[in-house]
Amino acid sequence: MRSWNAPTVPSLPGDGPVPALWDTATASFVTTRPVDGAATLYVCGITPYDATHLGHASTYLAFDSLVRVWRDAGLRVTYAQNTTDVDDPLLERATATGVDWRALAASQTDLFRSDMEHLAVVPPEHYVAVTDVVGDVADAVAGLIDSGVAYRVETPGSEAGDDVYFDVRGAERDTSWHLGLESRYDAPTMARFFAERGGDPDRAGKRDPLDPLLWRAARADEPSWPSSVGPGRPGWHIECTVIAEQHLGATATVAGGGSDLVFPHHEMSTAHATSITGEPSARQWAHSGMVAYQGEKMSKSLGNLVKVSELVSAGRDARAVRLAITAHHWRSDWEWLDDDLADAEARLERWTAWAHGVGPQEAGAGTTPLLALLRAALADDLDTPRAIRAVDDHVAAGRPATAVDVDAVAALLGIDLRR
Ligand code: ZN
Repeated sequence: MRSWNAPTVPSLPGDGPVPALWDTATASFVTTRPVDGAATLYVCGITPYDATHLGHASTYLAFDSLVRVWRDAGLRVTYAQNTTDVDDPLLERATATGVDWRALAASQTDLFRSDMEHLAVVPPEHYVAVTDVVGDVADAVAGLIDSGVAYRVETPGSEAGDDVYFDVRGAERDTSWHLGLESRYDAPTMARFFAERGGDPDRAGKRDPLDPLLWRAARADEPSWPSSVGPGRPGWHIECTVIAEQHLGATATVAGGGSDLVFPHHEMSTAHATSITGEPSARQWAHSGMVAYQGEKMSKSLGNLVKVSELVSAGRDARAVRLAITAHHWRSDWEWLDDDLADAEARLERWTAWAHGVGPQEAGAGTTPLLALLRAALADDLDTPRAIRAVDDHVAAGRPATAVDVDAVAALLGIDLRR
């Protein structure tokens, strides 16, 4: 599927360091050891039934920082992201609003692309719609049934066969994966999040309450596809397993998403991967914090959303939106305040005035003190707040901008001050 237009990312003198990044599975900082100068990233995409809010934007900006820092370190980066363009919440919204689910998904995916362009997010090389890989997911599910870690559950109401579930206890017995390997959660926490985040612990006929759905057999009035396991559509976790493996190989360098994906989504995605390939789906797991607004986590279900597209169409500068978000550490939970954007706009104005005083590019210009500070901050677990403070201090001290400094702000922080 078409991705979105790439921002201009200037190249900088020399190479920055490979960043250390907090890893959920080991609860430690891990510095990626790239294989043959390459790094791969899988980030879970949106379910396109509503516009991108600042919580989503914060997640994709966090991983955009990682892509930019990896590239600056001289790595060849391959990035894949999915879009869950068929799923229960999307179908429910389509029914409730009387819109065809395909039209809803297409329009909201377009809006997401335009939001990502406004925020100067480097696009993934592989932007993959689930509806484009349904047959591949079905084949993966068939393979899991054959290897004994997936089973059918009697499905009243479906004339097209039975739903297929993943056998977590079987996978624990047969593979190197176990529950908690990625999330580190205890059993009560897993039970709570499984129920809250799309799981069906009480479904009759399952072997274990935590067994996740792999394949939903066709129902009347629901979209479905003919496949090797019968007509139906993919479960949620297996779609990411299959898309990541197709485009990045068995094990991505980093897999990421919002912290609400730690369990069950990423735990189960890597469980499926380990059953299919014998390897976990990522060497490292990275999770961004949640964004609150008016005292509650920003979420579609609560309706307390601040949307990127609405800020932009109200005439706000998207660079200021990016600055306002990245002034918070990517892993922290934080609350959007209505004054945040005005503060970021004032900062952008100061930085722009500073950048407009830049002299001509000197031939063979080397690393500058500001570039070194930005690289050091970002190599330390993508510390964008510290990087932003470094620019603030530089500007406030009246140090003149060099062309390399302005390029560094564009390349590493995604803020083009030459506009
Ligand atoms: Zn995913």
